[in-house]
Amino acid sequence: SKKINKKWTKKPRKNIAEMNDFVPPSTAPAVESKETKEAKERAAVISTSIDAASAKLGAVRKGYWDDPFVHFFVNEDQEPLTHAPPLFNRGTTTRVACIDCVARLFLEHGGRQVVNLGGGSDTTYARLRHGHAMPDDALWAEVDFPEVAAAKNARIAAHPELRSAFGGRYAMRGVDLRDTDALKHVLVDELGVDTQKPTLFVSEIVMVYMDAEAGDRIIEWAGRAFACSMFVTLEHIRPDDAFGRRMVAHIAERGCPLRSIAAYGTPEKQQARYATRGFDTASSAFTMNEAYERLLPPGSAEARHVASLEILDEVEEWHLLQDHYCFVVALHDPQHTLHIDRPDALGFRL
Ligand code: SAM
Repeated sequence: SKKINKKWTKKPRKNIAEMNDFVPPSTAPAVESKETKEAKERAAVISTSIDAASAKLGAVRKGYWDDPFVHFFVNEDQEPLTHAPPLFNRGTTTRVACIDCVARLFLEHGGRQVVNLGGGSDTTYARLRHGHAMPDDALWAEVDFPEVAAAKNARIAAHPELRSAFGGRYAMRGVDLRDTDALKHVLVDELGVDTQKPTLFVSEIVMVYMDAEAGDRIIEWAGRAFACSMFVTLEHIRPDDAFGRRMVAHIAERGCPLRSIAAYGTPEKQQARYATRGFDTASSAFTMNEAYERLLPPGSAEARHVASLEILDEVEEWHLLQDHYCFVVALHDPQHTLHIDRPDALGFRL
């Protein structure tokens, strides 16, 4: 890995570390007020929800997994990443497989309440429901910035297919996740999230855009105020090697810096973040390389399917990319309500 990192340090061309998106960096004037800066950063963070949907649509169109809903959330002018290199599509596939796996596991063990933090244009709820994995009585509460929530709700209302797919106990509301009191109010008072019921929190490339303390407050609440809770998180890690430095610099140039990557830049730090905030039943953090090996083991039908879609030439780069993303699963279940004992020992198939 040292050898490969050296290569990335030397190469001036646009590389995989810069491929979290395909949007050129903004050109900022020399002096900006604090408010202007904050508004720009907020807009840049919001735009990542479009990149996420676009990346997912690109991979879905290539056949990596089925999603009959994601295309509704991508406009034609938000050209999907259909020309993304295979390793990028595989990365997106791993991302979706991680969240799916934990959500299914939680539901299979009787969980009926999911909170999707920074849900953006995510379609997991609709896909699970479409595949009969989402029980009718399960509540799926999503939150994101008010602009994102309003846009998603408008999109759902505009398409009969989406109205039906997002039926059931689904709700998307606007709130700034950094305002923990407002977040609690929306979830508990407005959406009826019950702290006595087992609850899964999902954070798919979201908290990394917030200051570490803001994410800590959410984790602390999820781990201490709930009788039983699970947390699944995906985010960037390893800001300090050559690849990581380029990745961090490139995303910062886009205007949405990875604010908590310095504090939680390794799987070990990620694991401790949850273990010390109420998730003491079990918590595990893996790189996406490990996640891929466990979810799509070599020789499995899933791995063969992925291999059949596109040839992956840049194997070293693929591993380097996957090494810079972390997958965390944490559990707080003192009463053993869910009968999920050791997520770390179970290869995600508890
Ligand atoms: N989780 C979705 C997915 O994976 O498809 C969207 C991921 S996107 C990279 C990050 C999302 O987090 C955006 O929708 C953004 O608006 C949301 N987000 C980031 N910081 C937020 C904050 N402080 N309050 C509310 N939403 C936030």
